[in-house]
Amino acid sequence: MSCIKQDARPDRGLPGTDRSFNAFEGMQPRRPAATPVEARNGRRVKESAVPPQGVYLPNNNVLTPAMRSPEYVQMSNAAAITLGIMPGKMHRCGCTRCLNLLLTYPEGCRANCAYCGLARHREAERDYADRNFIRVDWPAVPMQQIVDIVARDGDQTPFHRMCISMITHPRSDADTVAVLKAWTAKIDPAAIPVSILSNPTTMERADVQRLKDLGADIFTVALDAATPELFDRTRGKGVQSPHKWQKYWEVLLDARDVFGPQKFGAHIIVGMGETEYEVLSLVQQLVDLGGHSHLFCFFPEQGSLMDHLPATPRDQWRRVQLARYLIDYAGVRVEQMRFDGEGRVEDYGLPLAELEDIVGQGIAFRTSGCPGKFRDDVSACDRPYGDSPPSNIASFPFQPDQKDLRKIRRQLRIPVVQG
Ligand code: SF4
Repeated sequence: MSCIKQDARPDRGLPGTDRSFNAFEGMQPRRPAATPVEARNGRRVKESAVPPQGVYLPNNNVLTPAMRSPEYVQMSNAAAITLGIMPGKMHRCGCTRCLNLLLTYPEGCRANCAYCGLARHREAERDYADRNFIRVDWPAVPMQQIVDIVARDGDQTPFHRMCISMITHPRSDADTVAVLKAWTAKIDPAAIPVSILSNPTTMERADVQRLKDLGADIFTVALDAATPELFDRTRGKGVQSPHKWQKYWEVLLDARDVFGPQKFGAHIIVGMGETEYEVLSLVQQLVDLGGHSHLFCFFPEQGSLMDHLPATPRDQWRRVQLARYLIDYAGVRVEQMRFDGEGRVEDYGLPLAELEDIVGQGIAFRTSGCPGKFRDDVSACDRPYGDSPPSNIASFPFQPDQKDLRKIRRQLRIPVVQG
């Protein structure tokens, strides 16, 4: 099988002239506007000091209560429905298998990542607990209430995993420890393993070790951007945000040492301006280190600094999803694949029959993340419709059926894969 090594950034098409991928030049975030002093640092919420009463459902028409971790955490709509604290149904999903918890403070996240609905620049527009994040609202719930429900449900719990998502805040490290302790005080982490979605900017190796010692199972780093250049543009100096690519890698390598093989990984958003070759080279690098990659399809989050930009074209996304699955779970290496002059996958490095078999299984197109209890390559973290609307699913939060697979094959637009 031929292979083409690509050392230099290949020529890239501009959006509009070639919509089969999101080119670097066309994915520039807006500049963040200045926030009025009276809206900074959660001042509105702190000064009104409305005491929270039980579960808070995001509502931009009422005064947001002053809620703080570790007493309060936010959770996705899907988790709140599955936990039974919020009514609702999800399109084609009975429940979610991962209880995603997000630390919360009136001051919110102090970073300004361009693609993120939680970013600091939204202070003037929307209080932290009311902001949309990965396309959905995040109700705030007392941590003790969550622990009591999951402990009460015991073996009957629908959850295969719990995840604590840190944000950039001075209290984030200590409160992640407090939330983890509150969980393990009543719930056996061997029964429901815990993942940490870390914030490397505020962490040292000792923090990573502490979380492992307290019973965390998997440690992930949200690199999000696939290259240092994109990282700086979307999470660093480019948007007045504090994150640094080098620091994220330091903590990622600490996680490899502390948590060990298969127990660490990185989140990567596909379609923010990197080439397919670049993102798949990163996927390979993570596998070579002993870890995994968890992919997200770029979606222009409402209110974010990238909300004017196009979502990742489905053919680009499907190619990367499929190639990443082959690298992570089928032993194919990026060097066996062939890329065109724009860095797009042309050949997956597998005979047609084997490729068709993997496409037909459909698992490659499911949401990727930390594993649940079904099988290693099926994520507990299914994030229903976190990166697309249900009408044009990017990451399938369930097993794609034959109709879905016909659509996926059309989206892949590769002659070798027949429906
Ligand atoms: S650090 Fe995380 S939560 Fe904060 S703005 Fe960046 S992506 Fe969003």
